[in-house]
Amino acid sequence: MTSRTPIIPQNLKLLVEERIHDDGLRGNIRRATHTSLGKRAAVVEDFPRWEEMRTTAHDIKKHVMDNLAHYLELFERQATEAGAQVHFARDAKEASSIVCGLAREHGERVIVKSKSMATEEIHLNPALQQSGLRVLETDLGEYIVQLAEEPPSHITAPALHKSRGEIGRLFSEQLGIPYTDDPEELTAIARRVLREEFLQADVGISGVNFGLAESGTICIVENEGNARLSTTLPKVHIAVMGIEKLLPDAESLGLFLNMLGRSATGQRITCYTSLITGPKRSTEPDGPEQLHIVLLDNGRSTMHADPKLREALYCIRCGACMNICPVYQKVGGHGYGSVYSGPIGSVVTPVFMGEQAAHDLPFASSLCGACADICPVRIDIHHHLLDWRHRMVEGQDGPLLERIAMRLFTFTALSALRFDLAGRLARLFAPFLKHSAGGMRLPVWSETREFPNLPEKSFKQLWKEDRERS
Ligand code: SF4
Repeated sequence: MTSRTPIIPQNLKLLVEERIHDDGLRGNIRRATHTSLGKRAAVVEDFPRWEEMRTTAHDIKKHVMDNLAHYLELFERQATEAGAQVHFARDAKEASSIVCGLAREHGERVIVKSKSMATEEIHLNPALQQSGLRVLETDLGEYIVQLAEEPPSHITAPALHKSRGEIGRLFSEQLGIPYTDDPEELTAIARRVLREEFLQADVGISGVNFGLAESGTICIVENEGNARLSTTLPKVHIAVMGIEKLLPDAESLGLFLNMLGRSATGQRITCYTSLITGPKRSTEPDGPEQLHIVLLDNGRSTMHADPKLREALYCIRCGACMNICPVYQKVGGHGYGSVYSGPIGSVVTPVFMGEQAAHDLPFASSLCGACADICPVRIDIHHHLLDWRHRMVEGQDGPLLERIAMRLFTFTALSALRFDLAGRLARLFAPFLKHSAGGMRLPVWSETREFPNLPEKSFKQLWKEDRERS
């Protein structure tokens, strides 16, 4: 669907309202997320000790975050020694300005970019375009959403919300080619267009999946080869890396590569794993002459300083929590209005964008806990959401009706007699609340739901009868 409502978290309710009634969109999201979950389940079975691996991954990330200053310094030292130029960016504006400055200095023709959520977070593409530079997304999903002038709707599958028919129509309109919805043909078309651009590009921009502190190496995983081309063909490579992406060493990387591929796309390992240590050496024929690594803070230090929120920095951006989330499955990534959507997006966005802008996000969850159960690094996501809810409403009285209802409930629940009487009255009047029987609609709650049938007898009555029988 094409939304006219700006995709920002302040519009959460409007965005959800638009999407929740769109059967086509919901079908696309359901198919994609369920396929991903099915594949994940199959490959996780390879490891009978998967749960222990999750604990180890959690512990490694905890160790790195608890010693972040040490690992950052080590990474910077090693990367610099290997010939890379390391830049620190306090916030999105500074990161964007560093990258735009470097790109202006070296990029006269086109800038090729491989998929990177960090660059989405700093709104790099609009900034590059405002600097007069042409930037081209080279990951197929990102290329599709760039053509559609939309943000990505999922952190690993940016165009997951689109059907192949929609992609076919988009290609036909934007590239002036005959319509086809054949995935192989569409991929071949994108490949042809992008190959030409790769050969023209002066600068390649990428994200980073992992940064190895012991060697200053950056690791990029992908499936299409576009990241490898973006980081080796142009003479300058700029990598934007959140400071939380650090791992101690190559040994720990082995575990995380296993967990990322399986959790993200249900693959045993992604097709391409690039390990880049510095720019091209004088003895090497290929590779960029310059490698710039932009280490991005943008609120991560705030999260790091908060003992509760620090755990959110363990995230390896696999997207599994989105795939399994019943809310994400209904509205997709654009429904949240934030760059990072789904359960983990609702935890980190209040830091990245401010509590006021992201005020409603932590409430966009059923708190079922499926996200925490699937997370490969065991982030207690739903409790973080609950914690954000507390923070958001702290010091506020809440709506009058809600306060009256809560007081009434407290009064009722504090006496067995009153509770019993309330149960009897509820069972007596509940049938009149059913809209199918012409009953009244309660505000908000029953607008889209039917009032449930209450059991004929209370648990207390059933218990009593059972005791009398035995
Ligand atoms: S919070 Fe966990 S499940 Fe969600 S994207 Fe991050 S690592 Fe994956």
